[in-house]
Amino acid sequence: MISVRPDLRALEGYHSAQVDVRIRLNTNESPEPPPAAFRDAVAAEMSRVQWHRYPDRSAAELRAAIADSHDVDPSMVFVANGSNEVLQTVLLAYAGPGRTVATFEPTYQMHAQIARVTGATVVEGERAADFTLDPGEVDRVLATARPHVVFLTSPNNPTGLVEPAERVRQLIASAPGLVVVDEAYAQFADWTALDLVGEDVPLVVTRTFSKTWSMAGARLGYLVGPAALVAELDKVVLPYHLDAVKQIAGRLALRYSDEMDARVKQIVAERERISTELASLDIEVFPSGANFVLFRPRHHAGRAIWQGLVDRSVLVRDCSGWPRLADCLRVTVGTSGENTEFLDAMRALLAAPPPPDQNGTSR
Ligand SMILES: *Cc1c(COP(=O)(O)O)cnc(C)c1O
Repeated sequence: MISVRPDLRALEGYHSAQVDVRIRLNTNESPEPPPAAFRDAVAAEMSRVQWHRYPDRSAAELRAAIADSHDVDPSMVFVANGSNEVLQTVLLAYAGPGRTVATFEPTYQMHAQIARVTGATVVEGERAADFTLDPGEVDRVLATARPHVVFLTSPNNPTGLVEPAERVRQLIASAPGLVVVDEAYAQFADWTALDLVGEDVPLVVTRTFSKTWSMAGARLGYLVGPAALVAELDKVVLPYHLDAVKQIAGRLALRYSDEMDARVKQIVAERERISTELASLDIEVFPSGANFVLFRPRHHAGRAIWQGLVDRSVLVRDCSGWPRLADCLRVTVGTSGENTEFLDAMRALLAAPPPPDQNGTSR
């Protein structure tokens, strides 16, 4: 039997339960499909796709539209199949064997995962008790590991925490290599690191169409960074990686930014409702600047609550097995009706006395 690379043997794949339930609040997608006018516009342009030809390799029109939306030059935009492929391309070019990548946990698991797949060594620093970056720990990791790439997720996943701008500035100033700020949820927060991007700044900011843009099904993401870095990524990525249909869909989606802004407002309002109501239920609720809320029941096991929700056909993300997140669950903000059903289920579950576990305690 042919054997896989030894360093991959211990790796586990990406796990997120795909359970058949009525209310899916586990993967932070948008609860609504894109506007109907968008779908009609895509259908109309689809009829003009030259199916027998390769697509525009540089995705020039899509890049230009994204660049325009952020008021940067198209040479500063790199586009790929989901922001995960953007991250993978960055890591293929700037990490890989013999290089080191730093993360600050708990955070998005794919950063360490993709880095390891490229053969890089991953160093995991710890966040402070409130899950912000701890400046002392950041200094320690940067000084001892001298990472070629440092990841920061803001708003962070799964905590929802928005990193204070000052901490991000400090990190960029002190990092020996490239800083990647993953802003998959930036539209739900009150500031963006995009303003810090510049030709001489070792910073890239990644974005996705999977969340705010209601297009998780399309697999489209991008980064904004120095043009010289984007040129290196263009060398590394596979030719014609972005298919013609996706280029059309991404370009047309950007015409509906007003509708998307309105939805973001609605989701933020619902997020605040969920946070307030959960907090009134004897639950620890972590402040969120994203489209989800991390919470920890004080007197019930997180796993038992997760199962109780599944039994009521509501699926949330079970984070209780992650380091430092014992008993934590993460709920994606859904439609108003879905959120109400989730909250009703939580109320019912918490009203029941917690079942004693093997140790006879309530946890
Ligand atoms: C959801 C998410 C992404 C999105 O990845 P895509 O490949 O664009 O779907 C990226 N980063 C974080 C932190 C996320 O939570």
